[in-house]
Amino acid sequence: MDKIDFEKYSNSIPKPEIGQGNNIGEQEIDVDDIWKIVTENLRLVLDRVEYKSWFEDTYLEQIQNGVATLSCSNEFKRSTILKDYNKFLQSCLTKATGQNLQVEIVIKKNEVDKPKERYTFAPPTDNPIMNLFTKMEGDKKKYEDSIKSARLNPRYTFKSFIVGPNNRLAEAVAQSVVSDIENESLTKSYNPVFYYGSTGVGKTHLMQAIGNEALRKNPDRKVVYVSIEQFLNEMIEAIRTKKNEDFRTKYREVDLLIIDDIQFVEAYPKTQEELFHTFNTLYQANKQIILASDRPPKEIKNITDRLRTRFEGGMVSDIQPPDYETRLAILKQSMLDKGVTVPDIFLDLIAKNIESSVRELEGALNKVLTLTKLGEVPSYEEVARILQVDIESKRKRATPEKVLNVVSEVFDISIRFIKSSRRNANIAIVRHVAMYILRNELQISLETTARLVGRKDHTTVLNACSVVEKRLKEDSSFAEKVEKCRRDIFY
Ligand code: ADP
Ligand code: MG
Repeated sequence: MDKIDFEKYSNSIPKPEIGQGNNIGEQEIDVDDIWKIVTENLRLVLDRVEYKSWFEDTYLEQIQNGVATLSCSNEFKRSTILKDYNKFLQSCLTKATGQNLQVEIVIKKNEVDKPKERYTFAPPTDNPIMNLFTKMEGDKKKYEDSIKSARLNPRYTFKSFIVGPNNRLAEAVAQSVVSDIENESLTKSYNPVFYYGSTGVGKTHLMQAIGNEALRKNPDRKVVYVSIEQFLNEMIEAIRTKKNEDFRTKYREVDLLIIDDIQFVEAYPKTQEELFHTFNTLYQANKQIILASDRPPKEIKNITDRLRTRFEGGMVSDIQPPDYETRLAILKQSMLDKGVTVPDIFLDLIAKNIESSVRELEGALNKVLTLTKLGEVPSYEEVARILQVDIESKRKRATPEKVLNVVSEVFDISIRFIKSSRRNANIAIVRHVAMYILRNELQISLETTARLVGRKDHTTVLNACSVVEKRLKEDSSFAEKVEKCRRDIFY
């Protein structure tokens, strides 16, 4: 992690907007307002992933006797924040409160989510932290119960859902669904929402995040999450036990109905009629419906036109597999959740090679974790092997253009200069690296190698290789850069 120039930034922190005359310790100042100012400043300075990693579920609990007490979810976060961000946090807090404060951090385990209520400063005689815990315990219990009966997995939250170009629209739709539900809007912005995308791209996660968030905001809402298979099973059971009415009531009197893997409706024609009526009842009552499928509505076979028309009648939004940056961010988030670390080069290897699904990405991370848990740091080749990255075939696919592009990027010298006749030492050495890799790793002939970097004489290639070999032994930061080139070219 790059260290931040705290001095530089602390001067640029804007003053708090809370009214003049307020004083720490008085009832009217809200710790959440202070924390809001602090986090605004953190966001200005830290990049998005960094902020999300360390501060997104960190809160200011109280300020008392010159100590600002923060809470976060695990020891790893706590020690990192204290180690890397303490000074910056202190200066943000000073700007926000006008006081010099020490930072302390407590860990709050298993807190599913922060309740919406805002907490105010209590007079010193009270025991604010105890009150806070009691209140939160009560809210938490209610929320947990409602999640359980909705059959939602509390792990699937917006917080743990990484947004990238692949799912940006889908996530924005999800957020607006949540606010429609929260505000009990008279017309829903998107109803139904129909998400589709290949397996493991996050459909279930995102839909459940909507359910979880709706309940977090109001645990009294009626939310039901169900797969189409469960829906069918319950329907059959209801017919068998003559409890059709109960079944209908259950699904037709909800605020939010989430149905997963709706593509299987094609295999269960019996559900279609029931689904259609459930759908109409909810729709007419202005209740929200969210569906997910592995394909768009028009590719679902064997369904009646009227059902297909319903599926298509609101917002149809796809979720694509994540790109490299998003994959890396997901891996980092996943490490945080687990409280573990994996060296960056392995994360990079996973993110580069596991492309199609987030589920596989998580599986790959687990495999690497198992290796690293055995004690010794595994070698790059070992990790590549367990990930079944076929190094040989990648090697064969590497092209001279790729070599030049990568070398140019890693050393920050344009290809034009590499191919030019310039003899400046900093350009010449990069040209030498390009020749070294072309010759040794791609086994390209001396003549062709020379030609690729704009040289005529193939003895320059031999000379370049020996210069690079010598420097690799002497200069570790140079060796690291060359190694990075190799990795970027071959993995
Ligand atoms: P789908 O329903 O599309 O098959 P899931 O929602 O079950 O996929 O996602 C598979 C796994 O990947 C889950 O563990 C989920 O938490 C994780 N996941 C998917 N997308 C993301 C994301 N954008 N950010 C974080 N985790 C994700
Ligand atoms: Mg799913």
